[in-house]
Amino acid sequence: MTKSVVLAAPRGYCAGVDRAVTTVELALERFGAPIYVRKQIVHNRHVVEDLQARGAVFVDELDAVPDGATVVFSAHGVAPSVHADAAARGLHTIDATCPLVTRVHNEAKKFAAQGVEIVLIGHAGHEEVEGTTGEAPESIRLVERPEDVEALEVRDPSRVTFLTQTTLSVDETAETISRIREKFPLLTDRSRDDICYATQNRQAAVKHIAADADLVIVVGSANSSNSVRLVEVAREAGARDARRVDNADEIDPAWLQGVERVGVTSGASVPESLVRGVCAFLEAHGFPPAVEEVLIEERTSFGLPRELRDAGRP
Ligand code: SF4
Repeated sequence: MTKSVVLAAPRGYCAGVDRAVTTVELALERFGAPIYVRKQIVHNRHVVEDLQARGAVFVDELDAVPDGATVVFSAHGVAPSVHADAAARGLHTIDATCPLVTRVHNEAKKFAAQGVEIVLIGHAGHEEVEGTTGEAPESIRLVERPEDVEALEVRDPSRVTFLTQTTLSVDETAETISRIREKFPLLTDRSRDDICYATQNRQAAVKHIAADADLVIVVGSANSSNSVRLVEVAREAGARDARRVDNADEIDPAWLQGVERVGVTSGASVPESLVRGVCAFLEAHGFPPAVEEVLIEERTSFGLPRELRDAGRP
């Protein structure tokens, strides 16, 4: 059999990441360095290091931001308490929360106001989950996987609904939702999960190339939820092996032994240059140029945060 490299499409930057990275770039341009960013603007080491070199300062919490400074909130969203703290400190804030995450926050507020308890499907400790939970901490119960549903306890089983993190595995989440519906037949139901278009499309595209692949290489950082999911999805779809790397330097040539068909994709926070680096590495190791298989065309884009659209400093 001849060797081949297939590039999944869509892959890489989603509209929310593109907007968040552009937000920091524009803030640096308009207001000058340093621009503070709470948490990683997006979960990609290379993006963060590049912005750091241009004057962005990444902090874990607002107490590391000096009075009067400008701070950007990351694409994953923040709890209302963070907005309140920033306002109390008089910080200039720019909110780069992805509009699709904001939509989940708004749903959480709406259900909580109606007295409906919310089962939030997501990963404990992920910034998006912390932000969403912060909207209605008394009303939200977190479950991470289908097995967690069994032990779930709520105040009133007839007034329960669910929300999800935007970057979960589509298939595993469907299983979790089905168990929630079984356990709470009177669920205040919703027609679908909150997994975003970009996560869904990247999972569908990697599934499409994985079944025939000996090895799928997913470019993405270890803390990128959607990148880690792509590795799992590739394996479940039939790839003989699937590995996540931050960049081509992390590929172990031993992975390529006996491998004919390689699939390549990348998470929603990954610059295309890193994917090109992986393709170049494969070519240097005897593989032909990659051929792209486009499963879905994406046209989604989001406008800039209000604070950057308005004239002058926020
Ligand atoms: Fe928004 Fe989805 Fe991208 Fe997250 S992965 S920033 S929710 S579009």
